[in-house]
Amino acid sequence: MPRKLFITTALPYANAPFHLGHFMEYIQADIWVRFQRLQGHKVHFICADDAHGAPIMLNAEKQGLTPEKLVEKVTSERVGDLSKFNLSFDHWYSTHSPENVALLHDIYKKLKANKLIISREIEQFYDPVKGMFLADRYIKGICPKCGAKDQYGDSCEVCGAVYAPTDLKSPYSAITGAKPVLKKSEHFFFKLSDKRSAKFLNEWVANTPLQSEVKNKLAEWLGDGGKNLNDWDISRDAPYFGIELPDAPGKYFYVWMDAPVGYLASLKNYFESGKAKLNGEARSFDEFLADDEVEQYHFIGKDIIYFHTLFWPAMLHFAGRKVPNNVFVHGFIGFSGEKMSKSRGTGVSPQAYLKLGLNPEWLRYYIAAKLNDRVEDLDFNPDDFVARVNSDLIGKYVNIASRAAGFISKKFEGKLAKPQLPPDIAKEFAAAAPEIATCYDGREFGKAIRKIMALADLANQYVDANKPWELAKNEDRQSELHTVCSTCISMFRDLTVYLAPVLPQLAANAGEMFNFNAGDWKALTKLLPAGHEIKPYKHLMTRIDPKQMDALLEPALEATKEAKASAKADSKSSEHAEAANSEFALVPPETPKPVVIQPINETISIDDFGRIDLRVAKILDAELVVEADKLLKLTLDLGIETRTVFAGIRSAYNPKDLVGRLTVTVANLAPRKMRFGESQGMVLAAGDGTGIYLLSADSGAVPGMRIK
Ligand SMILES: [Zn+2]
Repeated sequence: MPRKLFITTALPYANAPFHLGHFMEYIQADIWVRFQRLQGHKVHFICADDAHGAPIMLNAEKQGLTPEKLVEKVTSERVGDLSKFNLSFDHWYSTHSPENVALLHDIYKKLKANKLIISREIEQFYDPVKGMFLADRYIKGICPKCGAKDQYGDSCEVCGAVYAPTDLKSPYSAITGAKPVLKKSEHFFFKLSDKRSAKFLNEWVANTPLQSEVKNKLAEWLGDGGKNLNDWDISRDAPYFGIELPDAPGKYFYVWMDAPVGYLASLKNYFESGKAKLNGEARSFDEFLADDEVEQYHFIGKDIIYFHTLFWPAMLHFAGRKVPNNVFVHGFIGFSGEKMSKSRGTGVSPQAYLKLGLNPEWLRYYIAAKLNDRVEDLDFNPDDFVARVNSDLIGKYVNIASRAAGFISKKFEGKLAKPQLPPDIAKEFAAAAPEIATCYDGREFGKAIRKIMALADLANQYVDANKPWELAKNEDRQSELHTVCSTCISMFRDLTVYLAPVLPQLAANAGEMFNFNAGDWKALTKLLPAGHEIKPYKHLMTRIDPKQMDALLEPALEATKEAKASAKADSKSSEHAEAANSEFALVPPETPKPVVIQPINETISIDDFGRIDLRVAKILDAELVVEADKLLKLTLDLGIETRTVFAGIRSAYNPKDLVGRLTVTVANLAPRKMRFGESQGMVLAAGDGTGIYLLSADSGAVPGMRIK
């Protein structure tokens, strides 16, 4: 039975051009989508522009445009890049749409009817000149810890201190420079703290084959009966570019509330515009989503797990809608070992990549070769990129065709003899088909590519063993030459079908040239027939010219340097980081100092060691200590009791990032009276004055476990 799949990628913020991270996600999803289509499944591959929020509103103002105009300008400039990378989205829409308003209002009303929406008054900094409440990133001032000027309201980029905006000295509005005042306002909250939310989410997690990293994350958030789940602030005060609450004039939905609803809004528009019908789905939007057999999948980055695995399924469930069957999370893409910032324009520019005439399928291939099914960062390494394309893709795969096809055209009128695969190679090719399919289906694209390249190696060994260029010189061995070259073309057909989800254009060109259907998985391992006609060989793909790479990398290296010095960009990632759990946020690289490795201490006996009672501890809470700027106050769960420990790790860790984490503690250390309380133990960390690295236990360890 063909599966019915509704697949999305995260909605890109309509404030800036696409960066490489976007394309990594789109390419990952597109490969999966294309594979599923080739298996005969029915796919609806949907995305949209995320058009709302304060950054867009303020950016538009700066440019003298309406937010709508800014969004139109940004999105019209970037839309062409999607097709250039051969991304096969079925529909692309916008969250600034009537469908999104209607769906969001419907969901909100149902949540409210379920008593999951509450309102309460909160106090927040307000810019009296601009007449606007200020999110943390729009407040600047002097760092209360190190005295650095112009630091943001949530943390200091100079010393790493974390604080509340009210802690800043001489705070000012980053928008107008005015001194902000504290002002009260009514906000609306989604009651994630409600017992029903935790109960539903625990069930959803148990029944969803999430990646293990995501499951672990959720186990922390949902642990302790959901005690750690906080209500979610879903409203913002005017002025705000977004969707107004239906029952509270002047209050707007926070962009993160309306953005995921945009998945459904885009799908709805796809149905109502008739495109779904053209894609073989005759039912209505509502009928389609009411079908239990329809599977819903979201491809996202690890920075937005929180929104997609807590709020989003809960919103959908309590509004009586279909919940996601899975959320596929990927890591970030780095550049030569550095973080490639989502918002700072560092790393490789996809626009420059296209402008310089680099082949989009090189990038698709490279990204595929590096991807797996885990939440892992991957690195764009220029040398590796050139090597994989030139040595593997061209040297191993394309070469098989170029070595064989010329003889077929010149000597045998473009017609194949009956291919004869040696039994050992035939066996390998036959065994590979289900393995490669399993890799694609499980998003283990790197593994799939390795298997395909192993087959290409076999094909090349076959060519080298049979030496067609020597057979060609011998008039008596022409029939052998014919068979060898025909066998090569048949193997090349199989390799092309395997690579088609990754290299759709190359596969189509090869299929056209050699007269086979590159999308026909059923034909795999059946040899091409005798008499099969091919067209004369034309270059399928060129090697990467090092000059092109130099031109691509020069600005990338510059931007990387600049970004290191630059502050936070005004972008969706910072807007969204405001509420996101920053557990996965990367710590900015510090200037490396050489580590001096100390000599080893004198020997102790095993009994000496045994006297130290080391235990796994879970950090239940981490707070700043007002009187001590190097310390954090940690509350540790030791399984049988709770301890308070003061740890000198504040320079290296944000308190909120530590909560939920497992670490190692010396449980039988004599308590120490300190000015601000008693420290009942010690957490273990590595460090030689160059940094602090808290130890942690592998997942599965539980608080209180003895460490031996
Ligand atoms: Zn500071």
